[in-house]
Amino acid sequence: MGDVHSPEIRSKNMRAIRQKNTRPEIVVRCFLHARGFRFRLHSKQLPGTPDIVLPKYRAVIFVHGCFWHGHNCPLFKLPQTRTEFWLKKIEANRKRDQRVIDLIHDTGWRTLIIWECALRKNGARKSMELLASTVAMWLTGQGKSGEVTDDQCFHQY
Ligand SMILES: [Zn+2]
Repeated sequence: MGDVHSPEIRSKNMRAIRQKNTRPEIVVRCFLHARGFRFRLHSKQLPGTPDIVLPKYRAVIFVHGCFWHGHNCPLFKLPQTRTEFWLKKIEANRKRDQRVIDLIHDTGWRTLIIWECALRKNGARKSMELLASTVAMWLTGQGKSGEVTDDQCFHQY
């Protein structure tokens, strides 16, 4: 899959708020777009300002960085300095994430988390084909929530 963004748009994305428009998020948007899914970005109408919102499927997708959101996976490494600070911060992020997901489910919408480790390993881009199919299957299916992790491991709840 080629990069659909021009260098100009890309650098604009890079300058945007760091926590939004992250590289993994852009990768997910590109393959959704390539498969014909239409979506809104960072909708404030739903709790937690979800990264990608697909009204047609009443579904939202969060692309979570493994560090910031405290994923239990090899991409997560607690810094050696100010360890206590980071532990607290990441624990707070995890709690907020769970609260947001509960709130979204309360409104009848569905949630999918794509973890950063599902998109890359040791900095290298993984094959997107399988991941894209997994996400498309979830979107068109009935699952209330799902999670995609390293090695395209998919959990549906
Ligand atoms: Zn991870």
